[in-house]
Amino acid sequence: MKDGHGDGSGSHGMPHGAPEGTIKEVYSQIKEHGDGKVSHQYMKNTQNQLRLVFWETTAGCNLECVHCRRIDVSTQLMNDDLTTKESFELVDAIAETGNPILVLSGGEPLFRPDIFDIAKYAVAKGLTVALATNGTLVDEAMAKKIVDSGVSRVAISLDGADADTHDKFRKLKGSFDMAIKGFKNLLALGMGMQVNCTIAKHNAHQFRDLYNLAVNLGAEAIHIFMLVPVGCGVEIAEDQMLPAEKYEELLNLFYDLSKEAVIQTKATCSPHYFRIMRERAKEEGIKITPKTHGMAAMTKGCLAGTGVCFVSHKGEVFPCGYLPVEAGHIKKQKFKDIWKDSAVFAKLRNTDLLGGKCGLCEYKKVCEGCRARAFYETGDYMAEEPYCIYTPKMAKSE
Ligand code: SF4
Ligand code: SF4
Repeated sequence: MKDGHGDGSGSHGMPHGAPEGTIKEVYSQIKEHGDGKVSHQYMKNTQNQLRLVFWETTAGCNLECVHCRRIDVSTQLMNDDLTTKESFELVDAIAETGNPILVLSGGEPLFRPDIFDIAKYAVAKGLTVALATNGTLVDEAMAKKIVDSGVSRVAISLDGADADTHDKFRKLKGSFDMAIKGFKNLLALGMGMQVNCTIAKHNAHQFRDLYNLAVNLGAEAIHIFMLVPVGCGVEIAEDQMLPAEKYEELLNLFYDLSKEAVIQTKATCSPHYFRIMRERAKEEGIKITPKTHGMAAMTKGCLAGTGVCFVSHKGEVFPCGYLPVEAGHIKKQKFKDIWKDSAVFAKLRNTDLLGGKCGLCEYKKVCEGCRARAFYETGDYMAEEPYCIYTPKMAKSE
């Protein structure tokens, strides 16, 4: 989300103590008054403040995308989706734990008839609420309902820069055009829009075109996701996973695009972007601050279990939507206690436990590697990220 502030003179200094509030408020404060040190502190998140909760509000969806994190995707609402009452209780529990952005996702969240009641309830509780949708159900009436519910931003997934590429991946002819239409319907009502792109072999050649598409559509942000083999994604992993060298090339290109600062750019689930960003900034003699690198200065690579968690449609809590290691269950434990005490989260929060070259890496505190890809390759989520070409200095000297 674009902040409405200028560059800031930096003359006021930050208020005493760590900046507080939603990530948007904190970003504005730091951009206005802070320096690289303050954003670095925020990025380190030593207290493991909960920053983002992804909630799979339903497993039901109208599409059957080839890379879906679910295997058991349903064309209807599922019986074991949380009820409305349970959903409200979850919102209460999240608000009691921190002040994160709550991302209502699915499945397809617009499948849930009570999704707007849930969004309104969460907004009333003080949470910043975002909606992640495939966009195909967003006609003008639906767009209005979304806006009226108080959602701050809507992310629509585009997995190709043209209809053919997107529709093949999403397994529905016409889904690209429907998603674009949905995007425009929301934008016309003033909604802050984000484009999410899952990058894999089938669309890697369109990387720049996808960025241009997001800019031309009027998005305020583009988030790229590098394919993680989980759910249906496992079946296509052999064919679709990009080699590590290609990753490196694309993430470098993403860094170049981010410098244009036309829209916000975020490399999500591409942890080594944060190593590349530092290498490139060093070469350029630039210090990383929110003024030079936007929100990327305030965040780091893998946030699973350290600032982010995922709640499944049944109430299981995972470090993220791609790492199928259960940290707790909201029907058995308090959400707050899971976030604070889960053994899985404790492990993920201890970078000393990282294995292989990630364990030796001088960038491990800003990158951490993708724990889900490590899990997929080895069964150990603390093992080294398999799709990073970097050789840490300590590994070289061994
Ligand atoms: S483990 Fe981390 S980097 Fe990998 S998919 Fe999950 S949040 Fe993203
Ligand atoms: S070796 Fe691991 S910690 Fe280091 S940059 Fe690569 S993925 Fe990140």
